[in-house]
Amino acid sequence: MSAPNKEYDPVEVSALDPAAIGSAQDAAIAAFAAAADLDQLKAARIEHSGDRSALALANREIGALPPAAKAEAGQRVGKARAAVKQALEARQVELEADRDARVLVEESVDVTLPVDRQPIGARHPLSTISERLADVFVAMGYEVAEGPEIEAEWFNFDALNLAPYHPARTMQDTFFVDSADSGVVLRTHTSPVQIRTLLERELPVYVVCPGRVFRTDELDATHTPVFHQIEGLAVDEGITMADLKGTLDHLAAAVFGDGLVTRLRPSYFPFTEPSAELDLQCFACRGTSVNNPDAPCRTCGSEGWIEWGGCGMVNPRVLAACGIDSERYSGFAFGMGLERTLMFRHDITDMRDMVEGDMRFSAAFGMEG
Ligand SMILES: [Zn+2]
Repeated sequence: MSAPNKEYDPVEVSALDPAAIGSAQDAAIAAFAAAADLDQLKAARIEHSGDRSALALANREIGALPPAAKAEAGQRVGKARAAVKQALEARQVELEADRDARVLVEESVDVTLPVDRQPIGARHPLSTISERLADVFVAMGYEVAEGPEIEAEWFNFDALNLAPYHPARTMQDTFFVDSADSGVVLRTHTSPVQIRTLLERELPVYVVCPGRVFRTDELDATHTPVFHQIEGLAVDEGITMADLKGTLDHLAAAVFGDGLVTRLRPSYFPFTEPSAELDLQCFACRGTSVNNPDAPCRTCGSEGWIEWGGCGMVNPRVLAACGIDSERYSGFAFGMGLERTLMFRHDITDMRDMVEGDMRFSAAFGMEG
C-alpha cells in the first residue's frame, strides 16, 4: 500500500489508474472464461479476485486517497470488482453443471453387464465320474460298499487268492504300513471291499465299490501312486458269465452311449476264474476307424476298442475264504480305473492334471453330476 496522499494523484497511485483497473478486470474475466474446470477456476479466482489480486490492492489504495477522490475511485474499483465477481459466479455455475453432467455419464451403471459373481468352485471330475458309474448300478439295485484304505494283508491279498509269492505282494507294488511284516498295507485295489462285503452281508450280494487305492508308482503322465477304482460284485445262485457280459454292456451304454458294447479277452487274475480283460467299444468312432486310414481315431488309436478293466467269475477259492458254498453260489466281479475312464472319456492326456488340484482343471467340468 502506498503512503497516504494528500492530493489525489492518479499517476502516483497507479493501481487506481482507469486503464490498470480496466485491464485487471479484463484479465480476470478472460482467466475465468479460460478455466476448463473448477480447479482451474479456483486458481484464477485466487489470482484475480483474491486478497493479493490487482483489484484487491486497488481497493485498499482507496483508503489512502483524500476524501474528495475516494468516491470516484471507489465507484470505478467497485464496478470492476462487481463485474469480476459476476463473471466468476457465472463461470462457477457453468463448470459445476459440466462436472455434474460428466459425473452422471462416468458413474452411470450398465445394468445389462454380467454380474461379477463369486466363483462357486466345482467338484473334482473323479468324484463325479465315480458317482456316475455307481449310479448306474444303484439303478439296477446294487448297493454301494466302502472299506478302509489301510487294510490287513489278509483282506488285500490272501482272501483274494493272491498267494504269498504272487508278484503283486512284493515291495514293488505295495505300500506297507510300518514294515513289510506288519501285515498292514495301503490297499492296492478295491477288491478287499468284496471280501468284507461277503463276510458281513447276507447273500445274495450285489455291490459296487468305488475307492482310492495305492501302488508304489512314480507320478508321471500315465501313473500315479494314488488312484481310484470302481469294482462291482454280484454273488447269487445261478450267476453266469452271460450276466457279467450283459451288466458290462449296460454300463458301457449308460456311461458312453446307447448301443455301445464291451468285449472280453481271456486273461488271468487270481481272484477270478475264468478271467477276462474288459474292452470298451470305442465311443468316438464305434469301430469305423479300423482298417480305415482315411478316418483315423485318436481315442482308440484306430483299434476300435479301448482297454477298460478286468473281470471274471469269482474264483471258488475266494468264495470259500468267505465261507460261501461255491456249489450253490456263483458270482462275477469286475473293476476299472476311474482315472483311465476319465482320461479317455474326456480326452485327458496327462494323469498329473487329475492329482495336482488346479481349480482351472476341475472347473472345466463344472457341476456335471
Ligand atoms: Zn475310436
